[in-house]
Amino acid sequence: MKTIRTRYAPSPTGYLHIGGARTALFNYLFAKHFNGTFVFRLEDTDVARNVVGGEESQLNNLAWLGIIPDESPLKPNSKYGAYRQSEKLPIYQKLVEELIQNGHAYKAYDSEEELAMQHKQSEEAGVASFRYNPNWLQISNEEKQRREEAKEYSIRLKLPANKDYAWNDLVRGKISVNSDDIGDFVIMKSDGYPTYNFAVVVDDHQMEISHVLRGEEHITNTPKQLAIYDAFGWEPPLFGHLTIITNMEGKKLSKRDKTLKQFIEDYKNEGYPAAAIMNFLALLGWTSGDKQELMNREELIAKFDPERLSKSPSKFDIIKMDWFAKQYMKNISNEELIKKINSPKEHEWNELFVETYKQSSPTISTLKKDLEIYLNPKENCDLELERLDVVKVFYKELISREFNIENIQKAIDETKTILNVKGRDLFMPIRKATTFEEHGPELAKAIYLFGAELVFKRLNGIIKI
Ligand code: GLU
Repeated sequence: MKTIRTRYAPSPTGYLHIGGARTALFNYLFAKHFNGTFVFRLEDTDVARNVVGGEESQLNNLAWLGIIPDESPLKPNSKYGAYRQSEKLPIYQKLVEELIQNGHAYKAYDSEEELAMQHKQSEEAGVASFRYNPNWLQISNEEKQRREEAKEYSIRLKLPANKDYAWNDLVRGKISVNSDDIGDFVIMKSDGYPTYNFAVVVDDHQMEISHVLRGEEHITNTPKQLAIYDAFGWEPPLFGHLTIITNMEGKKLSKRDKTLKQFIEDYKNEGYPAAAIMNFLALLGWTSGDKQELMNREELIAKFDPERLSKSPSKFDIIKMDWFAKQYMKNISNEELIKKINSPKEHEWNELFVETYKQSSPTISTLKKDLEIYLNPKENCDLELERLDVVKVFYKELISREFNIENIQKAIDETKTILNVKGRDLFMPIRKATTFEEHGPELAKAIYLFGAELVFKRLNGIIKI
């Protein structure tokens, strides 16, 4: 088997999106599973859309997730040339020139307006989708000469007639598109910049990329890319097109949808455990053969099997994401969490706090929110207490004992026996009356963390009502 080389090739147009992160992760897992190399390179030729710091931000977010490329603009392997397209313009130009020389590409002198006219005429003729017609434009030799000198032309690939471009998609099986359904397309724009389809083929070829996993929006690009490989006589990599990620309603995720956190940066800022996000992303369009769900990076690498990439869209389920996050939070050491929450309390208290609350907290942010109820305790309980009798008995049982976790538990148990109440009827009134919250972790511990003084002050206040 040839050496596995995969790549993630973002445009530096903004933060790392969930979709991009998933593509990067699958390529990374694929490479690592087969002891191959994972490459990060940059598609930065759309100058107007590039943002300052875009490359760095992509790399930093990937690193936060635990995805470190083996090669990148910062760690190039000189054998493969530059890792930013903007640094390869002369290479693309030279290769385009080669295609012109051997008749696989030609200069197209149409202006924007003329092209628009062609479009319009083809539409009026009832053609479903536009095909460029190289013979449409009739201009004088002088005009052609003028446009040539002013470099007012783009370069198009000349497609052979009626040729099938087919590939065995790693996710979807055989796909085939006929050249007559594509039409000659632009490979270099009049500004001398290559188009995406051209540059990506050159890059994949020069970097000896063996497998390409990418989003399904690229399926229509693949036959064009195969046509370019064909024109050069190069061997293409194997392609796999991942299915889309949808929201819970089954609609494709839109970057504009503000109700969902869609950028890795958001999760990082909220203090989600990075390993949980990696685990969650891995299951957006892939499952492990043994149906295991919780997997750290090493396990994911060991188990990743491209045969198990999903053929149906994957739902982005934030509740599931939080479930993953909680599972990972539990395994973070108390010491590490204490460092992150900035609590002014004593170490022993902090230790009990994080140990208690990390069982049900998905992020550092939620843990800090939990801490707030202790640092700035509420003055009043604005919750309805269904059973005051439960609170009263609990109070009596608690005040006769030394205030510690064990005894708080005893007081709860005694209340249960005395009143013959259990479950919600027992816990809710006690929880609300002591913590002023409806939800929380293990009750006795949550109560203990408030300290005797505050707990009795609250209980007294409530019993007097
Ligand atoms: N820059 C392209 C994208 O982000 C890369 C496409 C490809 O993987 O070929 O979608």
